Amino acid sequence: MDKSILEGRPALARQIEDVAEVAGYLWQKGWAERNGGNITVNITEYVDDSMRALPAIGAPVQIGLTLPHLKGCWFFCKGTNKRMRDLARRPMENGSVIRILDDCSSYEIVADLPVKPTSELPSHLAVHNDFVERGLDYRASLHTHPIELVAMSHTDKFLKKDVLSNLLWSMIPETKAFCPRGLGIVDYKLPGSLDLAASTIRELEDYDVVMWEKHGVFAVGCDIMEAFDQVDVLNKSAQIYIAARCMGYEPDGMTLEQMQEMSVAFNLPK
Ligand SMILES: [Zn+2]
Repeated sequence: MDKSILEGRPALARQIEDVAEVAGYLWQKGWAERNGGNITVNITEYVDDSMRALPAIGAPVQIGLTLPHLKGCWFFCKGTNKRMRDLARRPMENGSVIRILDDCSSYEIVADLPVKPTSELPSHLAVHNDFVERGLDYRASLHTHPIELVAMSHTDKFLKKDVLSNLLWSMIPETKAFCPRGLGIVDYKLPGSLDLAASTIRELEDYDVVMWEKHGVFAVGCDIMEAFDQVDVLNKSAQIYIAARCMGYEPDGMTLEQMQEMSVAFNLPK
C-alpha cells in the first residue's frame, strides 16, 4: 500500500480514529459478533482538492438506487464481511473511502485498499441522502446488535409506539437527557431489504435511534460517537430494567412528573 489517504489530513484521520474507537466498543460490549453491524460516515466536509484529484482504485459500482442529494459526496464505510474487532485495530484495511459519482447511482473506491463496502451500503446511503435533502447535520449511521435492547424487542408489549422509550427513559434520568428523541420501532423485516430501509428512514424523522424488531438498532448522529452514545445510554437503561426483573420485581421507574421535570431542566425536545 502507498501512503494512506489519512496522512497529512488530521481532521479526516480523527474521524476514522473515532470510527475505530466505536468499533472497538461494539466488540467489547458483545454487540458485534462475527461481521455483525455497520458503520457509514459522510466525510465530504473533510475532502480537499488533492483528495478530489485522486484516481479511483476500482471500477465504478452500481448502488442499485439513485440518490440525487449525494452527488460528489464521500463516505467511509465498513467493508463487507469485515469484523468490528478488526475495524477497531486496522480501520483502513477493514473499511474504505468511496465517492459517489455524478450519476448519483454509482460509486468508486478511492482509498486505501479495494475493500468492498458493506452489503447494506444502499440502505445506509439512502439514509444519508435523506439527511442531506433535509439539510440536517447528521453525518454518521450505525447498525449494531445490543443484547438487552434486542431481548426487549422479542415481546409485543414493548413494541407499541413509545412504550419502550418511556420505560427506558424512566430507568435513569440521563437516558432522557442524552437520548431525548427516544427509540423508534420498526417491526420485523428482512435484513438488508429496501422495505427495512424505507421504514427506518420514516422512523428517523422522529427518532435518532430505531429498533429493528428481533434484530438490532440503527442509530444516527452528527458524528459516530454521538450515534454510539445514544445506543449506549438506551442499552444501559435496558440492563437496569432487566437487573430489577432478575431481582424479582417490576421496577417502579421515575414518575411522569420526574421525567417532565428533566425535560424542562435540560431544555429537551417535545
Ligand atoms: Zn444486523
